[in-house]
Amino acid sequence: MTNLRIFFGLLLALPLLLAGTCSTPAPGPPDAGIYHTYAEISTELQELQTQFPAIAKVMAIGESVEERTIWALKISDNVAQEEDEAAVLFVGGHHSREWISVDVPFLLAKHLLQNYQTDSAVKNMVDSGEIWIVPLLNPDGHQYSVISNRLWRKNRRNNGDGSFGVDLNRNYGHKWGGPGSSGETFSDIYRGPVAFSEPETAAIRNLAAQHQFVALLSYHNYSQLVLFPWGHTSAPAPDQALLSQLARTMADSIFNVHSQRYTPEQSSDLYLASGDATDWLYGETRAPSFTVELRPRSSNPGFVLPDSEIQPTFEENLPAALFLIEWTQSADRRMSSTL
Ligand SMILES: [Zn+2]
Repeated sequence: MTNLRIFFGLLLALPLLLAGTCSTPAPGPPDAGIYHTYAEISTELQELQTQFPAIAKVMAIGESVEERTIWALKISDNVAQEEDEAAVLFVGGHHSREWISVDVPFLLAKHLLQNYQTDSAVKNMVDSGEIWIVPLLNPDGHQYSVISNRLWRKNRRNNGDGSFGVDLNRNYGHKWGGPGSSGETFSDIYRGPVAFSEPETAAIRNLAAQHQFVALLSYHNYSQLVLFPWGHTSAPAPDQALLSQLARTMADSIFNVHSQRYTPEQSSDLYLASGDATDWLYGETRAPSFTVELRPRSSNPGFVLPDSEIQPTFEENLPAALFLIEWTQSADRRMSSTL
């Protein structure tokens, strides 16, 4: 009798036990493996400032649609002061699923700070210029890519019609609304209702209004390309020769590290795209502006680049970034154009 009671008791408890084992565990913090999440980027930027207070300053440059702080790291000597030095801007994470585009500029920041004391070339470029790094412009979309939909591209604007997201790299204000962007809210290249409708792109616009950037490097993936303006038209930019030469030099320096070929070309050769960051800064100021499409080369593995590729992708892109910083501080740059 007792055994029977236990047997029936267990039988009754079975669905509960099964439910217990099958239910999803309580969610931990968002995890992107070795890739940095928004929370990790936020913490580690603050740690860099704490560790290198003389040359690193973290600044809030805006707030995303879901009210996450957008961070910029300024690296320079006398970092708290505005000096009359060439300023260069690196931006990552326009597109949520392009995780490597966040880690590469973040690792660049770390490299500059950690090697300042020991590497005279690094010290010289940090002392002579202002290096601004915005590693994660689209924190909402990135978080959504980590937690819910790995292949999400846009930000997380509620468009009010059941669709979400504006393509931040079609929302900038030079030739906004042109070919290679869409007015359809459900489109992955939806440009938004007006130029700079999104707080993320407005943050970059406002930052550029306060600091005269003389070059921009915007990281994306994938395809292994070094792209220069224009994107909105196949017509050549006024400074085509200079842009193309700088892109080629960067592509060559990338190749020299791990023999990975990144093709230098006009952005419109890939496809027409209106309202991107590089057309905008170049179009407004003539500052040479580049999009680097990072690893991999093709759709396999496409956006889902394995953790093991983070370090080599950073390593090969480091000399190109350093070259661009040094160029902004050179006599060549000052003689090159209207800048
Ligand atoms: Zn992209």
